[in-house]
Amino acid sequence: MKIVLLGPPGAGKGTQAKSICNRYNIPHISTGDIFRKNMSENTPLGIEARKHIDKGYLVPDDITINMVYERLQAEDCKDGYLLDGFPRTVKQAEALERFLKEKNESLTVALLIQVPREFIIERMTGRRVCPACGASYHTKFNMPIIAGKCDICGSDIIQRKDDTEETVRERLDVYKAQTQPLIDFYEDRNVLSKVDGTKAINEVFESICNILGEKI
Ligand code: ADP
Ligand code: ADP
Ligand code: ZN
Repeated sequence: MKIVLLGPPGAGKGTQAKSICNRYNIPHISTGDIFRKNMSENTPLGIEARKHIDKGYLVPDDITINMVYERLQAEDCKDGYLLDGFPRTVKQAEALERFLKEKNESLTVALLIQVPREFIIERMTGRRVCPACGASYHTKFNMPIIAGKCDICGSDIIQRKDDTEETVRERLDVYKAQTQPLIDFYEDRNVLSKVDGTKAINEVFESICNILGEKI
């Protein structure tokens, strides 16, 4: 099972990724989480990534592609994986395609979670995340059981620095210009499936499971 999750910031990719990876027992590869881990540890990659991420811009393709290539070579990716937040540009999608081709493999599905723009600002400004395990919460739509604490690992949850209204607007423009073309890219390759991301979290997950059930 090799899954790509597509959709604008705030579509619910991270939220659904956690449930999908739990159910299908595959690693959740979130490029955003990998960048944030590097930023918190002040690695050279993290220092470079921060310059772009805090403004809402994409990290350059060559850096991102190398990082993902390395991650996909790991032992735990042998039987499949879920990519959340990658690819985000046509160049990245082509790189992933080359990587798969070299191994005679192919993508199981590119899942597009569709959410119109008017939902996004409220979702993003109310988002809280767990810096330790990457879980996503919301002040209104998905509150943790104990206020301020991650349900999964108990860490204090925080607001991301790039989840301000201004940065979210920038990220939405970047999505439209650079990531939206991937919808056609995967449609042309007959691997795109769409789900309505405006429904409740568990309903979206149900639609995703129905799609995945047909693919395996
Ligand atoms: P969200 O889930 O809110 O869309 P992510 O956590 O996936 O955001 O990513 C946060 C930021 O990390 C992005 O705004 C971008 O700056 C950077 N980033 C993540 N993935 C990529 C990628 N594939 N290519 C370039 N930049 C990326
Ligand atoms: P992405 O990874 O696509 O940027 P997240 O999974 O982090 O998105 O979700 C963005 C915010 O919206 C989070 O605060 C999350 O709790 C909330 N959220 C996710 N899915 C839904 C949904 N179906 N309905 C309402 N809120 C949602
Ligand atoms: Zn946690």
